[in-house]
Amino acid sequence: MDGIDYCDSNATKALFLFARDSGNGVYVPYVTQKVAYLLIDTPVYRGAVMPTTLATRREAFLGAIGMTVYPGLVLDRALQGHRGTAVTFSYHAGSSTAVFSSGTALKGAVSTMINLHNGWTVTTFALVAGGAVFSNASALALLITGITLSLLLAILFFVLTTSRARALRLVGERTGELRHQALHDSLTGLPNRALIMDRIEQLLVRNRRHGTLGAALFIDLDDFKDVNDTLGHAAGDRLLVSVAARLEGALRDADTIGRMGGDEFVVLIDGASLQVAPELVAERLLDVMRRPFDLDGATLPLIVNVSVGIAIGDRTSPGDLLRDADVALYEAKASGKNRYEVFHPEMQTEVSRRTELEFALRSALEGDQFRLVYQPIYNLDDLTVVGVEALLRWEHPTQGLLQPDEFIPILEQTGQIREVGHWVLTTACTQMAQWHNQGNAMDISVNVSGRQLDSDDIINHVRDALNVSGLAATSLIIEVTETALMRNTTATAVRLAAIKELGAKIAVDDFGTGYSSLAYLRQFPVDCLKIDRMFTNAITTSPESKALIGTLVQLGKDLGLRTLAEGVETTDEMDLLRDQHVDEAQGFLLARPLDAETFEAQLLAPIRPIVLGGPTPDVTPRK
Ligand code: C2E
Ligand code: CA
Ligand code: CA
Repeated sequence: MDGIDYCDSNATKALFLFARDSGNGVYVPYVTQKVAYLLIDTPVYRGAVMPTTLATRREAFLGAIGMTVYPGLVLDRALQGHRGTAVTFSYHAGSSTAVFSSGTALKGAVSTMINLHNGWTVTTFALVAGGAVFSNASALALLITGITLSLLLAILFFVLTTSRARALRLVGERTGELRHQALHDSLTGLPNRALIMDRIEQLLVRNRRHGTLGAALFIDLDDFKDVNDTLGHAAGDRLLVSVAARLEGALRDADTIGRMGGDEFVVLIDGASLQVAPELVAERLLDVMRRPFDLDGATLPLIVNVSVGIAIGDRTSPGDLLRDADVALYEAKASGKNRYEVFHPEMQTEVSRRTELEFALRSALEGDQFRLVYQPIYNLDDLTVVGVEALLRWEHPTQGLLQPDEFIPILEQTGQIREVGHWVLTTACTQMAQWHNQGNAMDISVNVSGRQLDSDDIINHVRDALNVSGLAATSLIIEVTETALMRNTTATAVRLAAIKELGAKIAVDDFGTGYSSLAYLRQFPVDCLKIDRMFTNAITTSPESKALIGTLVQLGKDLGLRTLAEGVETTDEMDLLRDQHVDEAQGFLLARPLDAETFEAQLLAPIRPIVLGGPTPDVTPRK
């Protein structure tokens, strides 16, 4: 690299003046027989800031720093040890254009372009390992950072040797800014993936040295896609900024938090300064998310939960620690979200089991592998059966009967729940219509998941099920969990109103677990509250729990709703529920979910045989 004083050269005077007036550096590529090099002319103004008008730029102009850089050389050096990677630096602004390339890209290489601003872009071409938790993209980002810095350091070195103090400050500022940009997320200002990977590396080394256990927490927003879909991306971005701030506020200074991209965050906890278990940190994070977010543009405060995967201890590489935390996160999502899980090696097997189930589920509906079982619902006053809840089971071709918690989360994730939900509605209504025809008037409750309520199709599915089965609409109860109600309140309220319009009833399932208030509930056309099993089971443990259930029942009564207690397992529970004037109950004490035949045989009125020639006279034979 050489310093050239262009002021002495008539040939470059025009460039010099152009730099002064435009405020931009001038970059002129030269190619000699052997090498390509770049002439750079950077204007320097008083106060190290660029004046905004032409006149003030001329007035404050101190001079320009001119130099020659051989980018090929810098690039070649930066690419050492990165075979199969190619990098192109290009500059384009006004009439100046320059392109410098180095390395050879392999077939199938993926290109990543990073805008360094000031007219510069860097494009890298490299093979990216598909599906890996830690994709090469972050390695590339690090590489690019390295290259950018070498280039800037080269400039810095030149300026130092020419000892122009102001220019030094200017370049120093630019270096810092660029470096910050390269290592931080522009939306939240948090460390980005590249910097986090570097911090994990340091964390692993430090903890290995101290013999302590560090941890990585992988955090992902639950159903963030819904926010983007319903409120738009700008609102989604604002939410991410608020979430980042809230998460950061819940951590100690010693912990590091970064954004990995999208709605994924990572928190690093150093074992050396670890005062509380990582699990407690995760709990604190879940806790701070419970408070709703006030977002401009959203009519109601928004509840956003997170799921957290934790990996604790040493690993051979930062990627390994993150991969394990990601596996644990997957597990947390699969077991109901809004929770944390700590990685253990068997989880890997669970992940492959889920993948297998997901594959097998694709043909389950077609293969007629779904079944419904029916759990009776009792009136607490006289213990008569007033209805049944239809519950889904899957007859897996090789693994036997699977429970819903094993496969419903997968159906929800893949969106298949809509199709399967349609089947459930039709099958349940058809079964109940048949029982009605046999003289057993009862209600049928059908569970509908949040994902089904995301689309207007649900209204058609309910209408269709009623038409096909011929069941009276007033005998159908649609169960929606409290959490699903609060997901997308406005659209959900409209869809539920349409379902009510058809004549069906609505029950709030798992009531008490979703933090909804009276104000929320009033918006929905609800008929019944199903008090979650958790409260039913707690009723016998303390006066407080009993008072709590009393409050839930009172809340229902205030709104004019029927109340039902789920999961009644003991007679003590049942007695106390009666004391609290709960209307209905469901639970293993009364009856387990039964298949249709067993239910008919045990609980329904016997079907009277049709006797030709009129009813059989109920008389004792005369002697
Ligand atoms: P849920 O709607 O709260 O259903 C009640 C669950 O509690 C059922 O579990 C039932 O077997 C169980 N249960 C009933 N009484 C007792 C009791 O006394 N003690 C205990 N420990 N448990 C009791 P199941 O059948 O495993 O269903 C689990 C969840 O799967 C359901 O919870 C519901 O959220 C979901 N689900 C089931 N079928 C469907 C469906 O067709 N569609 C949708 N979207 N979700 C369904
Ligand atoms: Ca239910
Ligand atoms: Ca429930």
